[in-house]
Amino acid sequence: MDLDPNLRNVLYLAAAVLFMFGIKGLTHPRTAVRGNMLGALGMLTAIVVTLIDKQMLGWGWIIGGLALGSGVGAYVAIKIQMTGMPQLVALYNGFGGIASALVAGAVLHGWIHGAADDGLSIFELIENGGQSPTQAVVATMASGLIGGITFSGSVLAFAKLQQLISGNPITNPLLKIANGLCTIGAIGVAIMLFMHPEQVGWYWALVVLSLFVGVFLVLPIGGADMPVVITLLNSYSGIAAAATGFVLNNTVLIIAGSLVGASGLILTKVMCVAMNRSLTNVLFGVMAEVGVGPSSDEIYAGKVKAASPDEVAMLFDTARKVLIVPGYGMAAAQAQHVVRDLANLLESRGVEVEYGIHPVAGRMPGHMNVLLAEADVPYDQLKEMDEVNATMEQVDVALVIGANDTVNPSAQEDPTSPIAGMPIIDVGKARTVVVVKRSLSPGFAGIPNPLFAANNTLMMFGDGKKAVLELIAALKAG
Ligand code: NDP
Repeated sequence: MDLDPNLRNVLYLAAAVLFMFGIKGLTHPRTAVRGNMLGALGMLTAIVVTLIDKQMLGWGWIIGGLALGSGVGAYVAIKIQMTGMPQLVALYNGFGGIASALVAGAVLHGWIHGAADDGLSIFELIENGGQSPTQAVVATMASGLIGGITFSGSVLAFAKLQQLISGNPITNPLLKIANGLCTIGAIGVAIMLFMHPEQVGWYWALVVLSLFVGVFLVLPIGGADMPVVITLLNSYSGIAAAATGFVLNNTVLIIAGSLVGASGLILTKVMCVAMNRSLTNVLFGVMAEVGVGPSSDEIYAGKVKAASPDEVAMLFDTARKVLIVPGYGMAAAQAQHVVRDLANLLESRGVEVEYGIHPVAGRMPGHMNVLLAEADVPYDQLKEMDEVNATMEQVDVALVIGANDTVNPSAQEDPTSPIAGMPIIDVGKARTVVVVKRSLSPGFAGIPNPLFAANNTLMMFGDGKKAVLELIAALKAG
Protein backbone atom coordinates (compact mmCIF):
# COMPACT_ATOMS: atom_id res chain seq x y z
CA MET A 1 0.00 0.00 0.00
CA ASP A 2 1.14 3.57 -0.68
CA LEU A 3 0.52 6.14 2.04
CA ASP A 4 -0.81 9.54 1.11
CA PRO A 5 2.43 11.59 0.70
CA ASN A 6 1.11 14.39 2.90
CA LEU A 7 0.20 11.99 5.70
CA ARG A 8 3.58 10.28 5.35
CA ASN A 9 5.42 13.59 5.61
CA VAL A 10 3.41 14.65 8.66
CA LEU A 11 4.22 11.34 10.36
CA TYR A 12 7.90 11.67 9.43
CA LEU A 13 7.85 15.20 10.85
CA ALA A 14 6.33 13.86 14.06
CA ALA A 15 9.12 11.25 14.25
CA ALA A 16 11.76 13.95 13.71
CA VAL A 17 10.25 16.12 16.46
CA LEU A 18 10.27 13.11 18.80
CA PHE A 19 13.98 12.60 18.03
CA MET A 20 14.71 16.22 18.90
CA PHE A 21 12.80 16.12 22.18
CA GLY A 22 14.50 12.79 22.87
CA ILE A 23 17.95 14.34 22.51
CA LYS A 24 16.90 17.33 24.60
CA GLY A 25 15.76 14.92 27.33
CA LEU A 26 19.10 13.14 27.27
CA THR A 27 20.90 16.32 28.31
CA HIS A 28 19.94 15.79 31.97
CA PRO A 29 19.90 12.59 34.04
CA ARG A 30 16.48 13.47 35.45
CA THR A 31 14.85 13.56 32.00
CA ALA A 32 17.12 11.02 30.30
CA VAL A 33 14.81 8.00 30.59
CA ARG A 34 11.89 9.97 29.14
CA GLY A 35 14.19 11.28 26.40
CA ASN A 36 15.19 7.75 25.52
CA MET A 37 11.55 6.67 25.32
CA LEU A 38 10.67 9.61 23.08
CA GLY A 39 13.55 8.79 20.75
CA ALA A 40 12.49 5.14 20.61
CA LEU A 41 8.89 6.17 19.88
CA GLY A 42 10.15 8.40 17.06
CA MET A 43 12.11 5.48 15.62
CA LEU A 44 9.10 3.17 15.87
CA THR A 45 6.96 5.75 14.04
CA ALA A 46 9.58 6.14 11.31
CA ILE A 47 9.94 2.37 10.86
CA VAL A 48 6.19 1.67 10.78
CA VAL A 49 5.52 4.51 8.31
CA THR A 50 8.34 3.35 6.04
CA LEU A 51 7.18 -0.26 6.16
CA ILE A 52 3.60 0.63 5.32
CA ASP A 53 4.62 3.12 2.66
CA LYS A 54 7.24 1.12 0.84
CA GLN A 55 6.94 -2.61 0.78
CA MET A 56 10.22 -3.16 -0.98
CA LEU A 57 10.61 -6.68 0.33
CA GLY A 58 8.15 -9.34 1.41
CA TRP A 59 6.93 -9.13 4.99
CA GLY A 60 8.72 -12.41 5.73
CA TRP A 61 12.12 -10.83 5.06
CA ILE A 62 11.27 -7.70 7.00
CA ILE A 63 9.93 -9.48 10.06
CA GLY A 64 12.75 -12.03 9.93
CA GLY A 65 15.36 -9.24 9.76
CA LEU A 66 13.70 -7.28 12.55
CA ALA A 67 13.45 -10.34 14.80
CA LEU A 68 17.07 -11.33 14.17
CA GLY A 69 18.42 -7.78 14.67
CA SER A 70 16.28 -7.09 17.74
CA GLY A 71 17.14 -10.48 19.24
CA VAL A 72 20.89 -9.98 18.86
CA GLY A 73 20.61 -6.34 20.05
CA ALA A 74 18.60 -7.27 23.14
CA TYR A 75 20.90 -10.18 24.00
CA VAL A 76 24.05 -8.06 23.72
CA ALA A 77 22.53 -5.13 25.64
CA ILE A 78 21.50 -7.43 28.52
CA LYS A 79 24.84 -9.26 28.61
CA ILE A 80 27.17 -6.30 28.30
CA GLN A 81 28.85 -5.00 31.45
CA MET A 82 28.59 -1.26 32.03
CA THR A 83 32.36 -1.12 31.64
CA GLY A 84 32.17 -2.64 28.16
CA MET A 85 29.82 0.08 26.89
CA PRO A 86 32.37 2.00 24.76
CA GLN A 87 33.16 -1.13 22.74
CA LEU A 88 29.47 -1.78 22.20
CA VAL A 89 28.85 1.80 21.12
CA ALA A 90 31.82 1.54 18.75
CA LEU A 91 30.37 -1.60 17.19
CA TYR A 92 26.90 -0.07 16.83
CA ASN A 93 28.41 2.95 15.07
CA GLY A 94 30.16 0.59 12.69
CA PHE A 95 26.96 -1.33 11.92
CA GLY A 96 25.19 1.99 11.26
CA GLY A 97 27.92 2.97 8.82
CA ILE A 98 27.95 -0.30 6.89
CA ALA A 99 24.14 -0.42 6.78
CA SER A 100 24.13 3.02 5.14
CA ALA A 101 26.78 1.96 2.61
CA LEU A 102 24.92 -1.28 1.77
CA VAL A 103 21.54 0.42 1.37
CA ALA A 104 23.05 3.09 -0.92
CA GLY A 105 24.74 0.31 -2.94
CA ALA A 106 21.45 -1.58 -3.23
CA VAL A 107 19.67 1.56 -4.46
CA LEU A 108 22.42 2.10 -7.04
CA HIS A 109 21.94 -1.48 -8.28
CA GLY A 110 18.19 -0.75 -8.53
CA TRP A 111 18.84 2.41 -10.56
CA ILE A 112 21.18 0.56 -12.91
CA HIS A 113 18.62 -2.18 -13.60
CA GLY A 114 15.74 0.29 -13.85
CA ALA A 115 17.67 2.47 -16.32
CA ALA A 116 18.66 -0.57 -18.44
CA ASP A 117 15.04 -1.83 -18.49
CA ASP A 118 13.68 1.58 -19.52
CA GLY A 119 16.48 2.35 -21.98
CA LEU A 120 17.42 5.49 -20.04
CA SER A 121 20.60 6.81 -18.49
CA ILE A 122 20.74 6.65 -14.68
CA PHE A 123 20.56 10.43 -14.50
CA GLU A 124 17.37 10.44 -16.60
CA LEU A 125 15.84 7.67 -14.50
CA ILE A 126 16.54 9.53 -11.25
CA GLU A 127 15.22 12.78 -12.68
CA ASN A 128 12.03 11.04 -13.85
CA GLY A 129 11.60 9.84 -10.25
CA GLY A 130 11.52 13.48 -9.08
CA GLN A 131 15.01 13.57 -7.54
CA SER A 132 17.99 15.69 -8.43
CA PRO A 133 20.36 13.23 -10.20
CA THR A 134 23.53 15.09 -9.16
CA GLN A 135 22.41 15.18 -5.54
CA ALA A 136 21.44 11.50 -5.57
CA VAL A 137 24.72 10.29 -7.08
CA VAL A 138 26.87 12.53 -4.84
CA ALA A 139 24.91 11.25 -1.83
CA THR A 140 25.57 7.66 -2.96
CA MET A 141 29.29 8.43 -3.09
CA ALA A 142 29.15 9.97 0.39
CA SER A 143 27.29 6.95 1.81
CA GLY A 144 29.86 4.52 0.43
CA LEU A 145 32.83 6.61 1.51
CA ILE A 146 31.73 7.61 5.00
CA GLY A 147 29.89 4.36 5.69
CA GLY A 148 32.98 2.31 4.81
CA ILE A 149 35.30 4.48 6.94
CA THR A 150 32.87 4.28 9.85
CA PHE A 151 32.58 0.51 9.68
CA SER A 152 36.26 -0.43 9.56
CA GLY A 153 37.30 2.36 11.94
CA SER A 154 34.67 1.28 14.45
CA VAL A 155 35.54 -2.41 14.24
CA LEU A 156 39.19 -1.53 14.86
CA ALA A 157 38.21 0.72 17.79
CA PHE A 158 36.14 -2.18 19.16
CA ALA A 159 39.11 -4.56 18.82
CA LYS A 160 41.41 -2.09 20.61
CA LEU A 161 39.00 -1.43 23.46
CA GLN A 162 38.15 -5.11 23.85
CA GLN A 163 41.91 -5.73 23.92
CA LEU A 164 41.65 -8.15 21.02
CA ILE A 165 44.62 -6.19 19.69
CA SER A 166 47.02 -3.81 21.42
CA GLY A 167 45.47 -0.47 22.38
CA ASN A 168 48.77 1.32 21.74
CA PRO A 169 49.06 3.78 18.88
CA ILE A 170 50.45 2.08 15.79
CA THR A 171 52.42 4.66 13.86
CA ASN A 172 54.68 4.08 10.90
CA PRO A 173 55.63 6.39 8.01
CA LEU A 174 54.59 3.61 5.59
CA LEU A 175 51.10 3.64 7.09
CA LYS A 176 50.84 7.36 6.40
CA ILE A 177 51.87 6.80 2.77
CA ALA A 178 49.39 3.93 2.42
CA ASN A 179 46.69 6.11 3.97
CA GLY A 180 47.47 8.94 1.56
CA LEU A 181 47.36 6.56 -1.41
CA CYS A 182 44.04 5.03 -0.33
CA THR A 183 42.53 8.46 0.27
CA ILE A 184 43.64 9.72 -3.16
CA GLY A 185 42.46 6.44 -4.68
CA ALA A 186 39.05 6.82 -2.98
CA ILE A 187 38.67 10.36 -4.31
CA GLY A 188 39.63 9.19 -7.83
CA VAL A 189 37.19 6.29 -7.69
CA ALA A 190 34.44 8.60 -6.39
CA ILE A 191 34.96 10.87 -9.41
CA MET A 192 34.78 7.85 -11.74
CA LEU A 193 31.58 6.78 -10.02
CA PHE A 194 30.07 10.21 -10.59
CA MET A 195 30.97 10.06 -14.27
CA HIS A 196 29.87 6.44 -14.74
CA PRO A 197 27.25 5.57 -12.12
CA GLU A 198 26.04 2.76 -14.37
CA GLN A 199 29.29 0.88 -13.63
CA VAL A 200 28.53 -0.37 -10.14
CA GLY A 201 32.09 -1.70 -9.70
CA TRP A 202 33.26 1.87 -8.98
CA TYR A 203 30.90 2.01 -6.01
CA TRP A 204 32.17 -1.17 -4.41
CA ALA A 205 35.78 -0.16 -5.13
CA LEU A 206 35.03 3.07 -3.26
CA VAL A 207 33.64 1.13 -0.30
CA VAL A 208 36.70 -1.16 -0.19
CA LEU A 209 39.13 1.78 -0.31
CA SER A 210 37.12 3.53 2.42
CA LEU A 211 37.46 0.45 4.60
CA PHE A 212 41.24 0.83 4.34
CA VAL A 213 41.05 4.56 5.09
CA GLY A 214 39.01 3.80 8.24
CA VAL A 215 41.66 1.36 9.43
CA PHE A 216 44.49 3.82 8.77
CA LEU A 217 42.55 6.52 10.59
CA VAL A 218 42.19 4.56 13.83
CA LEU A 219 45.50 2.63 13.88
CA PRO A 220 47.59 5.61 15.10
CA ILE A 221 45.13 6.48 17.85
CA GLY A 222 46.18 5.26 21.28
CA GLY A 223 44.14 4.28 24.30
CA ALA A 224 43.87 7.72 25.85
CA ASP A 225 42.35 9.24 22.69
CA MET A 226 39.85 6.43 22.08
CA PRO A 227 36.84 8.22 23.63
CA VAL A 228 37.22 11.03 21.13
CA VAL A 229 37.49 8.60 18.22
CA ILE A 230 34.34 6.79 19.25
CA THR A 231 32.30 9.97 19.42
CA LEU A 232 33.74 11.01 16.06
CA LEU A 233 32.80 7.67 14.47
CA ASN A 234 29.36 8.09 15.99
CA SER A 235 29.09 11.39 14.16
CA TYR A 236 30.31 9.78 10.91
CA SER A 237 27.65 7.07 11.19
CA GLY A 238 25.04 9.83 11.38
CA ILE A 239 26.45 11.63 8.35
CA ALA A 240 26.48 8.35 6.38
CA ALA A 241 22.83 7.78 7.34
CA ALA A 242 21.89 11.32 6.29
CA ALA A 243 23.61 10.77 2.94
CA THR A 244 21.63 7.56 2.47
CA GLY A 245 18.52 9.58 3.31
CA PHE A 246 19.29 11.72 0.25
CA VAL A 247 19.85 8.56 -1.83
CA LEU A 248 16.46 7.21 -0.78
CA ASN A 249 14.85 10.64 -0.80
CA ASN A 250 13.67 9.92 2.74
CA THR A 251 13.26 12.99 4.91
CA VAL A 252 13.19 11.29 8.28
CA LEU A 253 16.48 9.52 7.59
CA ILE A 254 18.06 12.81 6.52
CA ILE A 255 16.89 14.48 9.73
CA ALA A 256 17.78 11.60 12.05
CA GLY A 257 21.19 11.19 10.42
CA SER A 258 21.90 14.92 10.63
CA LEU A 259 20.93 14.94 14.32
CA VAL A 260 23.35 12.09 15.05
CA GLY A 261 26.04 13.70 12.90
CA ALA A 262 25.72 17.11 14.56
CA SER A 263 25.33 15.89 18.13
CA GLY A 264 28.23 13.44 17.66
CA LEU A 265 30.40 16.27 16.41
CA ILE A 266 29.46 18.50 19.35
CA LEU A 267 30.25 15.66 21.77
CA THR A 268 33.57 15.09 19.99
CA LYS A 269 34.41 18.75 20.48
CA VAL A 270 33.45 18.56 24.18
CA MET A 271 35.65 15.46 24.61
CA CYS A 272 38.53 17.15 22.77
CA VAL A 273 38.35 20.10 25.16
CA ALA A 274 38.15 17.70 28.12
CA MET A 275 41.30 15.93 26.94
CA ASN A 276 43.04 18.95 25.45
CA ARG A 277 43.23 17.33 22.03
CA SER A 278 42.82 19.25 18.81
CA LEU A 279 39.89 18.12 16.70
CA THR A 280 42.02 18.40 13.55
CA ASN A 281 44.61 16.03 14.99
CA VAL A 282 41.97 13.50 15.90
CA LEU A 283 40.22 13.90 12.53
CA PHE A 284 43.43 13.18 10.67
CA GLY A 285 44.72 10.58 13.11
CA VAL A 286 47.72 12.71 14.17
CA MET A 287 49.16 11.79 17.57
CA ALA A 288 51.33 13.88 19.84
CA GLU A 289 54.94 12.80 20.20
CA VAL A 290 55.03 10.53 23.23
CA GLY A 291 58.13 10.26 25.40
CA VAL A 292 59.27 7.26 27.43
CA GLY A 293 58.83 8.99 30.80
CA PRO A 294 60.00 7.80 34.22
CA SER A 295 59.31 4.18 35.17
CA SER A 296 56.93 3.12 37.94
CA ASP A 297 59.91 2.17 40.11
CA GLU A 298 61.48 5.61 39.74
CA ILE A 299 58.23 7.28 40.73
CA TYR A 300 57.02 4.99 43.50
CA ALA A 301 60.11 3.43 45.13
CA GLY A 302 60.08 4.13 48.85
CA LYS A 303 57.55 6.95 48.57
CA VAL A 304 54.13 5.27 48.61
CA LYS A 305 52.33 5.26 51.98
CA ALA A 306 49.59 2.70 52.55
CA ALA A 307 46.84 3.33 55.10
CA SER A 308 44.30 1.03 56.73
CA PRO A 309 40.55 1.78 56.85
CA ASP A 310 40.93 2.68 60.55
CA GLU A 311 43.62 5.25 59.78
CA VAL A 312 41.56 6.78 56.99
CA ALA A 313 38.49 6.85 59.25
CA MET A 314 40.47 8.96 61.72
CA LEU A 315 41.14 11.49 58.95
CA PHE A 316 37.41 11.79 58.32
CA ASP A 317 36.77 12.39 62.02
CA THR A 318 38.40 15.80 61.74
CA ALA A 319 37.41 16.61 58.14
CA ARG A 320 34.87 19.34 57.37
CA LYS A 321 34.90 19.12 53.60
CA VAL A 322 35.33 15.88 51.62
CA LEU A 323 35.56 15.57 47.86
CA ILE A 324 34.86 12.15 46.34
CA VAL A 325 36.50 11.64 42.94
CA PRO A 326 35.19 8.50 41.22
CA GLY A 327 36.79 6.81 38.23
CA TYR A 328 36.64 3.66 36.20
CA GLY A 329 37.54 1.50 39.23
CA MET A 330 34.32 2.57 40.99
CA ALA A 331 32.39 1.28 37.98
CA ALA A 332 34.43 -1.93 37.84
CA ALA A 333 33.85 -2.56 41.56
CA GLN A 334 30.17 -1.49 41.30
CA ALA A 335 30.89 0.61 44.39
CA GLN A 336 28.50 3.48 43.64
CA HIS A 337 25.88 2.43 46.21
CA VAL A 338 28.37 2.01 49.07
CA VAL A 339 30.04 5.29 48.08
CA ARG A 340 26.67 6.99 48.49
CA ASP A 341 26.23 5.28 51.88
CA LEU A 342 29.64 6.59 52.93
CA ALA A 343 28.71 10.10 51.79
CA ASN A 344 25.40 9.90 53.72
CA LEU A 345 27.22 8.79 56.84
CA LEU A 346 29.71 11.64 56.59
CA GLU A 347 26.94 14.16 55.98
CA SER A 348 25.05 12.90 59.00
CA ARG A 349 28.16 13.90 60.98
CA GLY A 350 28.14 17.42 59.59
CA VAL A 351 30.78 16.90 56.87
CA GLU A 352 30.22 18.69 53.57
CA VAL A 353 30.49 16.12 50.74
CA GLU A 354 30.77 16.76 47.02
CA TYR A 355 31.67 14.62 44.03
CA GLY A 356 34.21 15.81 41.46
CA ILE A 357 33.33 14.47 38.02
CA HIS A 358 35.94 14.43 35.28
CA PRO A 359 34.37 14.49 31.79
CA VAL A 360 36.27 11.39 30.65
CA ALA A 361 36.26 9.44 33.93
CA GLY A 362 35.22 5.83 33.37
CA ARG A 363 34.79 4.43 29.92
CA MET A 364 32.05 6.48 28.31
CA PRO A 365 30.86 10.08 28.38
CA GLY A 366 28.71 10.62 31.46
CA HIS A 367 29.71 7.22 32.91
CA MET A 368 30.11 8.51 36.48
CA ASN A 369 26.93 10.59 36.31
CA VAL A 370 24.94 7.55 35.22
CA LEU A 371 26.34 5.34 37.99
CA LEU A 372 25.86 7.92 40.72
CA ALA A 373 22.35 8.74 39.50
CA GLU A 374 21.60 5.00 39.68
CA ALA A 375 22.69 5.15 43.34
CA ASP A 376 20.38 8.17 43.95
CA VAL A 377 23.18 10.61 44.66
CA PRO A 378 21.60 14.09 44.50
CA TYR A 379 22.50 15.83 41.22
CA ASP A 380 23.49 19.03 42.96
CA GLN A 381 26.35 17.21 44.71
CA LEU A 382 27.93 16.31 41.36
CA LYS A 383 30.39 19.07 40.49
CA GLU A 384 32.28 19.58 37.28
CA MET A 385 36.05 19.53 37.14
CA ASP A 386 36.59 23.30 36.87
CA GLU A 387 34.29 23.96 39.79
CA VAL A 388 36.02 21.56 42.18
CA ASN A 389 39.50 22.60 41.06
CA ALA A 390 38.70 26.21 41.96
CA THR A 391 38.07 25.28 45.60
CA MET A 392 40.46 22.34 45.98
CA GLU A 393 42.58 24.07 48.67
CA GLN A 394 39.55 24.07 50.97
CA VAL A 395 39.09 20.29 50.71
CA ASP A 396 40.26 18.39 53.81
CA VAL A 397 40.13 14.91 52.29
CA ALA A 398 39.96 14.11 48.58
CA LEU A 399 38.81 10.49 48.35
CA VAL A 400 39.78 9.09 44.95
CA ILE A 401 37.90 5.88 44.21
CA GLY A 402 39.22 3.94 41.23
CA ALA A 403 40.31 7.05 39.32
CA ASN A 404 43.82 7.21 37.93
CA ASP A 405 44.47 9.02 34.61
CA THR A 406 41.92 11.71 35.42
CA VAL A 407 43.87 12.67 38.59
CA ASN A 408 47.38 12.12 37.17
CA PRO A 409 49.51 15.27 37.57
CA SER A 410 51.83 14.11 34.73
CA ALA A 411 49.15 15.40 32.38
CA GLN A 412 50.00 18.90 33.57
CA GLU A 413 53.68 18.50 34.42
CA ASP A 414 55.19 16.20 31.78
CA PRO A 415 54.81 17.49 28.20
CA THR A 416 55.94 14.12 26.79
CA SER A 417 53.29 12.15 28.68
CA PRO A 418 50.67 10.37 26.50
CA ILE A 419 48.03 12.36 28.39
CA ALA A 420 49.98 15.67 28.32
CA GLY A 421 47.70 18.67 28.38
CA MET A 422 44.62 16.74 29.53
CA PRO A 423 42.96 18.76 32.29
CA ILE A 424 42.80 16.78 35.54
CA ILE A 425 40.95 16.96 38.82
CA ASP A 426 43.79 18.44 40.80
CA VAL A 427 43.29 16.49 44.03
CA GLY A 428 46.96 16.99 44.97
CA LYS A 429 46.01 20.47 46.18
CA ALA A 430 43.65 19.09 48.82
CA ARG A 431 44.99 18.81 52.37
CA THR A 432 45.05 15.00 52.22
CA VAL A 433 44.40 12.62 49.36
CA VAL A 434 43.20 9.05 49.92
CA VAL A 435 43.35 6.80 46.87
CA VAL A 436 41.30 3.60 46.87
CA LYS A 437 42.47 1.03 44.31
CA ARG A 438 43.74 -2.51 44.34
CA SER A 439 47.39 -1.93 43.46
CA LEU A 440 49.74 0.56 41.85
CA SER A 441 48.66 -0.66 38.39
CA PRO A 442 48.19 2.05 35.79
CA GLY A 443 44.86 3.17 34.37
CA PHE A 444 43.65 3.26 30.78
CA ALA A 445 46.61 5.29 29.46
CA GLY A 446 49.07 2.74 30.90
CA ILE A 447 51.33 5.20 32.71
CA PRO A 448 52.44 5.58 36.35
CA ASN A 449 50.88 8.27 38.50
CA PRO A 450 53.10 10.52 40.67
CA LEU A 451 50.03 11.39 42.78
CA PHE A 452 50.33 7.99 44.49
CA ALA A 453 53.83 8.94 45.72
CA ALA A 454 52.96 12.50 46.79
CA ASN A 455 53.61 13.59 50.39
CA ASN A 456 49.95 14.23 51.13
CA THR A 457 48.65 10.98 49.54
CA LEU A 458 47.66 7.80 51.37
CA MET A 459 46.91 4.64 49.41
CA MET A 460 44.09 2.46 50.71
CA PHE A 461 44.61 -0.73 48.72
CA GLY A 462 41.65 -2.98 48.00
CA ASP A 463 38.66 -3.56 45.77
CA GLY A 464 36.63 -0.34 45.60
CA LYS A 465 33.43 -1.73 47.12
CA LYS A 466 35.12 -3.80 49.82
CA ALA A 467 37.42 -0.95 50.82
CA VAL A 468 34.56 1.54 51.15
CA LEU A 469 32.52 -0.97 53.20
CA GLU A 470 35.51 -1.39 55.51
CA LEU A 471 35.83 2.37 55.78
CA ILE A 472 32.15 2.69 56.73
CA ALA A 473 32.59 -0.03 59.34
CA ALA A 474 35.67 1.72 60.75
CA LEU A 475 33.82 5.06 60.90
CA LYS A 476 30.90 3.49 62.71
CA ALA A 477 33.18 1.66 65.14
CA GLY A 478 35.29 4.76 65.86
P1 NDP B 1 41.63 4.84 34.77
O1 NDP B 1 41.27 3.93 33.68
O2 NDP B 1 42.73 5.78 34.54
O3 NDP B 1 42.04 4.00 36.08
C1 NDP B 1 41.15 3.15 36.68
C2 NDP B 1 41.80 2.56 37.90
O4 NDP B 1 40.78 1.81 38.55
C3 NDP B 1 42.93 1.59 37.60
O5 NDP B 1 44.18 2.18 37.85
C4 NDP B 1 42.64 0.38 38.50
O6 NDP B 1 43.74 0.18 39.41
C5 NDP B 1 41.40 0.80 39.30
N1 NDP B 1 40.47 -0.31 39.47
C6 NDP B 1 40.07 -1.22 38.57
N2 NDP B 1 39.22 -2.09 39.12
C7 NDP B 1 39.08 -1.72 40.42
C8 NDP B 1 38.33 -2.22 41.51
N3 NDP B 1 37.56 -3.31 41.41
N4 NDP B 1 38.41 -1.55 42.67
C9 NDP B 1 39.19 -0.46 42.82
N5 NDP B 1 39.92 0.06 41.82
C10 NDP B 1 39.87 -0.58 40.63
O7 NDP B 1 40.30 5.57 35.23
P2 NDP B 1 39.84 7.09 35.11
O8 NDP B 1 38.36 7.03 35.27
O9 NDP B 1 40.64 7.97 36.00
O10 NDP B 1 40.20 7.52 33.64
C11 NDP B 1 39.48 7.07 32.52
C12 NDP B 1 40.42 6.73 31.41
O11 NDP B 1 39.67 6.01 30.43
C13 NDP B 1 41.01 7.95 30.73
O12 NDP B 1 42.32 7.67 30.30
C14 NDP B 1 40.07 8.12 29.53
O13 NDP B 1 40.69 8.77 28.46
C15 NDP B 1 39.78 6.68 29.18
N6 NDP B 1 38.53 6.45 28.45
C16 NDP B 1 37.44 7.18 28.76
C17 NDP B 1 36.28 7.00 28.05
C18 NDP B 1 35.11 7.89 28.34
O14 NDP B 1 34.33 8.13 27.44
N7 NDP B 1 34.95 8.32 29.59
C19 NDP B 1 36.17 5.97 26.98
C20 NDP B 1 37.37 5.17 26.81
C21 NDP B 1 38.49 5.45 27.52
P3 NDP B 1 43.96 -1.24 40.10
O15 NDP B 1 44.04 -2.24 39.02
O16 NDP B 1 45.23 -1.05 40.87
O17 NDP B 1 42.80 -1.47 41.01
